[in-house]
Amino acid sequence: MTGERLSPQPGSRAPAPGELALVQAFINSHYDLELHHGADLFATPESLGGWLARYGLETGGRLSSRDVARAVALREGMRALASANGSANGAAAPAADPAVLAGLDGASAGASLELRFAPDGRPRWQPAGRGALDRALGTVLAVTATAFADGTWARLKVCPGPHCGWAFYDHSRNGSGRWCSMDVCGGRVKARAHYRRRRGG
Ligand SMILES: [Zn+2]
Repeated sequence: MTGERLSPQPGSRAPAPGELALVQAFINSHYDLELHHGADLFATPESLGGWLARYGLETGGRLSSRDVARAVALREGMRALASANGSANGAAAPAADPAVLAGLDGASAGASLELRFAPDGRPRWQPAGRGALDRALGTVLAVTATAFADGTWARLKVCPGPHCGWAFYDHSRNGSGRWCSMDVCGGRVKARAHYRRRRGG
């Protein structure tokens, strides 16, 4: 993938391996630690186009506010889908919310994929859609489908910390990671629980 670059991670966590780092950065485009932290990098057609170009994703045309709504819908649907990975804790993930799946299907429509063969003979999905956003979102979806197939998707989790929602890759051996960072969210929640216990609440 051309132009792929890695975003900094909270708690010095390593990003998701390989191309899944792109999907992770896509989900975290509302929580970018490098650029305007906490700002939505998909806020306008211009900022969305800039983000996609930064990650080497071609748009093939000018973007509209409908494109922004579609990209945000895909991002938030994928965040909700990845949230189930955190609660599953190694077990089979619970069935996803039908409304989340319908939103994902709506945002994905038009981002068609074709199967092509890489130089090593392995088949891989290649985006083939024609709309301005179809190829860019198709790339994100192709990487996601591959991550489901190779099992790495189950380790892409969403931090349940208040005001967080950061997508992180759980590199722990037993796959029990829950927080983006024990120092940031995990530590804060533990300190609050400790305080409540001390107050007898
Ligand atoms: Zn967090």
